Amino acid sequence: MATEAASIYPSLENRPVKGTICLFDVDETLTPARSSASPEMLELLSKLRHKCAIGYVGGSDFSKQQEQLGTSSIPVTTLFDFCFAENGLIAYRLGKPLATTSFIQWLGEEKYQNLVDFCLKYIANVKLPKKRGTFVEFRNGMVNVSPIGRNASMQERNEFEEYDKIHHIREDMVEALKKEFPDYGLTFSIGGKISFDVFPTGWDKTYCLRHVEAEKHISGTEYKTIHFFGDKCYPGGNDFEIFSDSRTVGHSVSGPEDTMKKLKELFDL
Ligand SMILES: [Mg+2]
Repeated sequence: MATEAASIYPSLENRPVKGTICLFDVDETLTPARSSASPEMLELLSKLRHKCAIGYVGGSDFSKQQEQLGTSSIPVTTLFDFCFAENGLIAYRLGKPLATTSFIQWLGEEKYQNLVDFCLKYIANVKLPKKRGTFVEFRNGMVNVSPIGRNASMQERNEFEEYDKIHHIREDMVEALKKEFPDYGLTFSIGGKISFDVFPTGWDKTYCLRHVEAEKHISGTEYKTIHFFGDKCYPGGNDFEIFSDSRTVGHSVSGPEDTMKKLKELFDL
């Protein structure tokens, strides 16, 4: 396969298109939703990597991206100069892991407990048709809070979603949290059927840009042109912040085919 044969790239400071990096969202930008990248896409990325630095930035965890972009014999960290999982909280540069950050490290144990205690007390005081278990789930970069509990079955989840539409359980809880912790620097995002996420403000995809900027002090490469390609670049979409950031040149794509078309035009591939 061409991607395997072309496994030797110029060092970052010696790529022909100087000071340029292309960053890509994963789902529906490099791959169809939740599935694998096509061989054509991987080959095009390999060609591009001979010209400038490349990286991906995905919201989900690293194992998901290994599954979608790598194979059992090819680690995803060999296919990109920069791999940013969980928006860059988990990061690899040239195959080697960079320091990670976590929600608790950032917030501190005391504030974290204040937040969790408040959530549990709040949920204890809400009457719902059903409650199950796991009301607060701690993840590396965020806390996920669910009034019904994450152990709910699919049917129970659907029932809660309908109930929530009428009674605004999640909206009211988010408002209460904002009122209680105005100085914690947190962002609340209601998504899916049964829960909402709590994470530090700014820990969206723009988080990964600090790693790109740090390259100046590592190899001396200053990325003056940071292209970003994503499919959810509208307000509320998970590519919006990095797409509209003043440090990037944003490209909104309709899917992997469109990404390939734009790359071919931009870089004469
Ligand atoms: Mg996407």
